[in-house]
Amino acid sequence: MSQKTPQAIRGTQDIFGAEAEAFAFVVETFERVRKLYRFRRIEMPVFERTEVFARSIGETTDIVSKEMYSFEDRGGESLTLRPEFTAGIARAFITDGWQQHAPLKIATHGPLFRYERPQKGRYRQFHQLDAEIIGAAEPQADVELLAMADQLLKELGISDGVTLNLNTLGDGDSREAWRGALVDHFAGVRGELSEESQERLDKNPLRILDSKDPRDQAFVADAPKIDDFLSSEAQDYFAKVCAGLDAAGVAWTRNPALVRGLDYYRHTAFEFVTDRLGAQGTVLGGGRYDGLIESLGGPHTPAVGWAAGIERLAMLVGERPQERLDVAIIPLDEDGLADANRIARDLRGRWNTVEVFATGKIKKRMSRASEGGALLAVLIGEDERLAGEVTVRDLHGGEQVRMRPADLRDAVAQAQNADWLRGLERDGITPPDEPDFG
Ligand code: ATP
Ligand code: MG
Repeated sequence: MSQKTPQAIRGTQDIFGAEAEAFAFVVETFERVRKLYRFRRIEMPVFERTEVFARSIGETTDIVSKEMYSFEDRGGESLTLRPEFTAGIARAFITDGWQQHAPLKIATHGPLFRYERPQKGRYRQFHQLDAEIIGAAEPQADVELLAMADQLLKELGISDGVTLNLNTLGDGDSREAWRGALVDHFAGVRGELSEESQERLDKNPLRILDSKDPRDQAFVADAPKIDDFLSSEAQDYFAKVCAGLDAAGVAWTRNPALVRGLDYYRHTAFEFVTDRLGAQGTVLGGGRYDGLIESLGGPHTPAVGWAAGIERLAMLVGERPQERLDVAIIPLDEDGLADANRIARDLRGRWNTVEVFATGKIKKRMSRASEGGALLAVLIGEDERLAGEVTVRDLHGGEQVRMRPADLRDAVAQAQNADWLRGLERDGITPPDEPDFG
């Protein structure tokens, strides 16, 4: 009886090869950078009670109104696969008493789920890096968080052509006054707006500013600007963020039309945007959410955070090769396998990359070693075994010598050094003199 193979769910990805290496590079770089800034790692559940998201993100937002994966579990409780990190983190801050650690700098990464129309750079299961500073009301927290984002993009080698767009939404009162003015402005031209924006006008008018529909553009361009509604405290706050970024060497441009898709933002809002990814050009976004924890029933807790799409960052990074192979160990017969495993284990203990090629024709094994870029091939046959030695072939210099297994570590170190010098020569760099420890 033949059975049809089940297909992957639309909007999910099986990531393999050079793309998976790019994905891993993004995560590894994030881990390194968050440690440089002393953000503490957290792990969070992939699902929460639905109300955690509904109450914090806002009922009228795209995410809550049409993108959540919600379901009833067997106990009849409504649960939702997390569409973002911040709401769950805010919940944990309250339920786990993280307040005692405030101000708290935390970072995490993992999968998120949104029922969106899948396309390049937009998936139903995607992955984010996330960083938050909770319990910090001062502009310096915004500056530090943005400096970390900026450094991350630099260390990923993708900061060229990615621009930090910065805005302020003011405090609650400024935001409400601005919102009122926007509603008046757009209500006057209601019939000429896109259908989507007409709907937003009733539910979430700030989001009209985010419209990419050409029919909305002219009205967006001459819409009231937040600057005319900012309280002097809000102005002062934003000025300090801008000055701090300048001092930290973080380049930014003001985008007074920048709003974010979630209801909870106050004061600083930002996005790192590129035109290299087509329509899905926002790689990292975030802002300040001083009211969020309170809205979930916690104490008033100022906080600021961002999230970045790992897939989009990985697309900018481009394909990455697998880690280069240092040593290929090739037992020439069945009896050589035990020695091969012992030597492999010994060499790996020194961080060398090592693979044992124990199956297939010897010629094929040698070519797999070369394809992996191996510096050395270690061959173990009967001759070698009887002499208590191994044969070491330099796959770049071509030389072949016999040596005792105990001398392999030095041989690998020498081969790595020679490879490093070859790399310098290729790049036209003069190697430094031998260090003089005399
Ligand atoms: P967009 O405007 O692209 O829909 P968003 O405002 O919904 O983004 P956020 O909720 O702020 O995005 O999420 C932060 C980042 O996560 C985005 O800048 C993007 O890089 C990434 N992201 C969001 N949704 C998706 C998705 N469906 N697939 C892939 N990446 C995503
Ligand atoms: Mg979205």
